[in-house]
Amino acid sequence: METEEVVRFHGHMCPGLALGMKVVEIAKRYFERGVDEELVAIVENNSCAVDAIQYFMSCTFGKGNLIFRDYGKHVYTFISRDRGVAIRIALKKNMIEEFREKFRDREEVVNAILESEPAKYFEVREVDVVPPEEAMIFPSVPCSRCGEPTMETRLRVLDGSLLCIPCFEVELKKRRKS
Ligand SMILES: [Zn+2]
Ligand SMILES: [Zn+2]
Repeated sequence: METEEVVRFHGHMCPGLALGMKVVEIAKRYFERGVDEELVAIVENNSCAVDAIQYFMSCTFGKGNLIFRDYGKHVYTFISRDRGVAIRIALKKNMIEEFREKFRDREEVVNAILESEPAKYFEVREVDVVPPEEAMIFPSVPCSRCGEPTMETRLRVLDGSLLCIPCFEVELKKRRKS
């Protein structure tokens, strides 16, 4: 794998990125970048690991085929819409503790992860997953406070005017104070 490139993309090498590379190693056995155009990744954390997935699997936040669920778990689900195949990759129990106890520093953890078979750290199973709906595009409407164009479905209504979420929150705070 193009380790140097992903390190450049992410900014440094770290245990999280190394774990992400192992997730990618597993995912690549099931899915091919480019072939599975419709590959979707659901990630249950926003750690360094996710950058390996964005970089190597081309599942990116901007394209809408990277879905973040804020569960704080090292669980990664990949779904091919075309082929109807889904796999769930989950970090095995006690792994984080093992890293802490067994190794002296981050570098040792990184090396241990990179040198191991991914099966040492992750459990993999095929799952039935209904793919999330494709990202919908809605027209933009200007916020009546800051004027910035905002996707229609994200606007909030306050006293009959449409506000973007940050403006809505500012107005709410003002009201609570007065
Ligand atoms: Zn990192
Ligand atoms: Zn606004």
